[in-house]
Amino acid sequence: GEVRLGMGSCCQASGSSDIYLELKKKSDELGISIDIKSVGCVGVCNQVPLIDVVLQDGSVKRYPNVKASEIKEILHHHFKSGSLLKRIKNSIINRVDTYHTDTTWDNVVWKPEHERVELIDSFLSEQKHISTEGYGYLAPLDLDEYIANKGFESLKKVIASYSADEVLSNILDSGIRGRGGGGFPTGEKMKIVASSDQSEKYVICNGDEGDPGAFMDRMILESYPFRVIEGMLIEAYAVGATKGLFYIRAEYPLAVQRIRKALDLCRERNLIGERILGGEYSFDISIFEGAGAFVCGEETALIASIEGDRGFPKQKPPFPAVEGLNAMPTLVNNVETLSQIPFIIRNGGDKYAEIGTENSKGTKVFALAGKIKNGGLIEVPMGISLNQIVEEIGGGVEGGEKLKAVQVGGPSGGCIPAHLCDVHVDFDSFNQMGAMMGSGGLVVLSESDCMVDVARYFLSFTCEESCGKCTFCRVGIRRMLDILDNICQGKAKLEDIDTLEELANNVKISSLCGLGKTAPNPVLTTLKYFRHEYEEHVNGVC
Ligand code: SF4
Repeated sequence: GEVRLGMGSCCQASGSSDIYLELKKKSDELGISIDIKSVGCVGVCNQVPLIDVVLQDGSVKRYPNVKASEIKEILHHHFKSGSLLKRIKNSIINRVDTYHTDTTWDNVVWKPEHERVELIDSFLSEQKHISTEGYGYLAPLDLDEYIANKGFESLKKVIASYSADEVLSNILDSGIRGRGGGGFPTGEKMKIVASSDQSEKYVICNGDEGDPGAFMDRMILESYPFRVIEGMLIEAYAVGATKGLFYIRAEYPLAVQRIRKALDLCRERNLIGERILGGEYSFDISIFEGAGAFVCGEETALIASIEGDRGFPKQKPPFPAVEGLNAMPTLVNNVETLSQIPFIIRNGGDKYAEIGTENSKGTKVFALAGKIKNGGLIEVPMGISLNQIVEEIGGGVEGGEKLKAVQVGGPSGGCIPAHLCDVHVDFDSFNQMGAMMGSGGLVVLSESDCMVDVARYFLSFTCEESCGKCTFCRVGIRRMLDILDNICQGKAKLEDIDTLEELANNVKISSLCGLGKTAPNPVLTTLKYFRHEYEEHVNGVC
């Protein structure tokens, strides 16, 4: 028998390690031989610990929110028949007898669990898995299993029969845009690096995710390390890069550990290193652990920090694709972007381009959080509406309240009010509303949430994380926060709201990097759609 158990950071924080130990202990006690498989994230974060029992016919029985005290019953229920049962009865007959007497399997014990399983089914049904292909099934560090499930097929195909230009054409045809926030076309960025004749070129995987509530990159790195490595190898081949680097924040220890192990395993199989798979192509990859500054997610700051300097963003141009790490052309791509590349090569760029909208292709991974019944990590095709995400995947607003807004894109994004939540998920639609995709946080807000508080929360984060290099970001955001504090404490005047708006627009246009340019978005969008709430605070109505 096989029992699968998610062992990502979120799962472990919710007690999966205890469940793992209990599965071992109880299967020993019952004399049952089971394979306990530690798998990657299923995404249903509010339903973990979650175990999947694989039945003899290959179907899976799913137990969400499982408790250690239930493990014995579950194992007994599924593995009690035939010779197995005989063995148990012969060895621990007294305990088994007592066990039968106390158990009410079909009528009482599992009924609530079935309802939760239905919730998980609707959570998963609208999703499309590219970055998260093999969710809840693949063991993150089982290289053989990854290979058996089409892993490294794309890399092999590339090395055996594709020129660098052919790989690049596929990625251009796919229309994929960078998933790190800005949405710059990945193929165009690659073209710039590829066109350089410098002797050294780098590919960097940007795993410096730091938005409050966002954990997409961590989950992908922890659950699908080989897929991200494969994506980097393919990109490096296309642009003629000589060295790769994972930049992962040190606060993600499990992600660092798994990528390190995965790189070692790939090296042993000659999937990275000298003359990969016996061909002419050589490429090695190392890891750099970031110290946790949000601004280091900005690519020039990230490069500065690798070079040993303070993580200060630089004026662009020159862009890193032209002059990056060690002044050499450097392709910086987000974790999620890299994890989509193997699919593009395996199926062809045009096939990938069939998914999504005209200007936003493929899928997007989001962290769905806030006042939502069924939150977690989701991967959806571009073009799906926010309402579909909230209602069909998330199961609606928690506690029977009405939807008020969805904050998209974390501190760089903005609030989209409920009446506009039929908007389709794509880079341009979000931008037109004053929000932006960001890296993919989705916080659902209900009618009891104060929008001024929401704006203040995100602004206090960016205020804390501003590197201080330029005045508008350093002083302007601080001043905006002071005004917001006064508004919330009922000490502001109505004209302060206008000052706040003017300041927000100035910070937006006068800051050097993405952090400062986007920090006012939560304030500007809440002012645009919920100005009356600001006024109510000032007038002492709430
Ligand atoms: Fe630093 Fe802010 Fe200027 Fe960016 S905009 S360089 S974070 S001060």
